[in-house]
Amino acid sequence: MSAAPHPTADSAAPGTQDLAARFTREFGAAPAGVWQAPGRVNLIGEHTDYNEGFVLPFAIDRTARVAVGIRQDSTVRLLSTYGDQGMVSTTLDALEPGSAKGWTKYPLGVMWALRERGIKVPGIDLLLDSNVPLGAGLSSSHAIECAVVTALNELTGAGLAAEDMVLATQRAENDFVGAPTGIMDQSASLRGAKGHAVFLDCRDQNATLVPFETEPAGLILLVIDTKVSHSHADGGYASRRASCELGAEVMGVKALRDVQVGDLEEASGLLDEVTFRRVRHVVTENDRVLQTVERLAAEGPAAIGTLLDASHASMRDDFEISCPELDLAVDTSRASGAIGARMTGGGFGGAAIALTPVASEEKVRAAVVSAFAEAGYAAPDIFTVSPAAGAMRIA
Ligand code: ADP
Ligand code: MG
Repeated sequence: MSAAPHPTADSAAPGTQDLAARFTREFGAAPAGVWQAPGRVNLIGEHTDYNEGFVLPFAIDRTARVAVGIRQDSTVRLLSTYGDQGMVSTTLDALEPGSAKGWTKYPLGVMWALRERGIKVPGIDLLLDSNVPLGAGLSSSHAIECAVVTALNELTGAGLAAEDMVLATQRAENDFVGAPTGIMDQSASLRGAKGHAVFLDCRDQNATLVPFETEPAGLILLVIDTKVSHSHADGGYASRRASCELGAEVMGVKALRDVQVGDLEEASGLLDEVTFRRVRHVVTENDRVLQTVERLAAEGPAAIGTLLDASHASMRDDFEISCPELDLAVDTSRASGAIGARMTGGGFGGAAIALTPVASEEKVRAAVVSAFAEAGYAAPDIFTVSPAAGAMRIA
């Protein structure tokens, strides 16, 4: 088959019928079903997950869809409508960490992780189609994994609860793909619901749905993908984690989750200046997540703008994980009408979000595009996302 273009924010997923029909053409039999799982955006709560704190992501209206058929043998055949890898054929016996290449490590990682849990996984044929933009900080990889785990959970009759599917995909990412990720992305994808954000406690995995609807408030959420990824991202992440661990140790707590805003004065006397600022970010960010949850429930999204702004300032000044492109995206969208904006994701590049009145959308878009051009930066990708349903079977 010929390679499809890179999925972008504007690419529509083909209809369910189309995907099933294409599966039948490619594999010679109809699929057992079609499942989908969304990408995610983190509304607030950055670098709080590994401190056993709070995050507030939501599932977005961009999904990975998989048509899956069960085979009678141990062959596994995988095909994506995107990319030039073509059909990949392997067997269940070959499923080992490090064995897979390209995108197939996500579905194969999930199959491996389920098998590691003692679930009997059959040979399958699988066709993937996704309109979650790749590498834009929307977790296109988790969208694939969550669609696959939802499909296999049903097809094998394993009956895993959402929490266990979250852990299975985390295992796939950590031990098969080799990415040291937490539980936020797949929790949003598997447990999200339309018009809601997922308030997740990373200590006990408890998830609560919080109403989050932008449309009735006359707002949209813009994602501004800066398309930059600064090279010190990995080292920066590791050193931030180390600072957080040091902070918790000196403060005598299990994790920074256990430090309250009221403890910060004491912390400033115990910690060196840099570690203190790292700790202050995490402690105040946890508090901002809690405040965001309260305000969303009581007043709606129009009331959270200042919290988004404060989150960005904290990441820029205390945690020092922003970069000039993200700061420009945030500052420009605020100056041209957004009611709140922040970088989202791990930092040192990636995307910012801007909560924007519908009436200001065009102004914000134009201002950001021209500010980037003026600064000599590559043109950003700007698109809207809305809180959508979590993973499900669609055919
Ligand atoms: P993110 O999850 O933030 O989008 P990652 O680097 O974790 O970024 O995952 C991106 C990878 O996911 C791509 O390199 C590719 O291997 C895979 N991927 C995502 N969507 C598709 C798709 N539709 N077809 C094939 N591979 C995909
Ligand atoms: Mg990813």
